[in-house]
Amino acid sequence: MQLLKERIRKDGIVKAGNVLKVDSFLNHQMDIELFNEIGREFKRRFEGKNITKILTIEASGIGIACVVAQYFHVPVVFAKKAQSINIDGEVYSSKIESFTHKRVYDVIVSKRFLSPEDHVLIIDDFLANGCALMGLLEILESAGAKTEGIGIVIEKGFQDGGEKIRKMGIALESLAIVDAMDAETGTVKFRDE
Ligand code: 5GP
Repeated sequence: MQLLKERIRKDGIVKAGNVLKVDSFLNHQMDIELFNEIGREFKRRFEGKNITKILTIEASGIGIACVVAQYFHVPVVFAKKAQSINIDGEVYSSKIESFTHKRVYDVIVSKRFLSPEDHVLIIDDFLANGCALMGLLEILESAGAKTEGIGIVIEKGFQDGGEKIRKMGIALESLAIVDAMDAETGTVKFRDE
């Protein structure tokens, strides 16, 4: 998605440790007009799929997922980061290792909001090693819901999450794939460029 790539080039900041900072338009301050174009593009890429729900993970996936959902006319469910797991069986849960915070935490979704009748599109801001997505996929599997696809805004193609997910045969659409970035020069190289 050209508009997104141009915005990453203009406002993205490459940090040491393979972190791309996009907090001026994507995951802290949010450019809703850009989100709207992102929603339109995901709708185009997943056209014809029967989607009943969008699943994302707090916090930075929520804003994007809400705008995307306006194109699909379905509810958004977000996986919550939990302090302690509720073991009374009311929630689906999974463990996720955070790439940015380097810690493991539990995420939960209430059983009331996912069922075997659901056809789910997962939306998130970044794909790096794929831990977040693996956790969400595990939750969908526990719920017996069908994963219709995954929409990612920025995939870091030099980390192996994308390859893992594609090998599983899941329809993964990333709007910008970064194949290399350099913290010293601040440059970003996109796939197919
Ligand atoms: P993964 O679980 O695929 O390794 O990482 C995905 C999550 O880590 C995303 O939801 C995102 O919050 C965060 N993340 C991974 N890489 C980056 C990055 O380069 N920049 C930012 N801002 N977040 C990242």
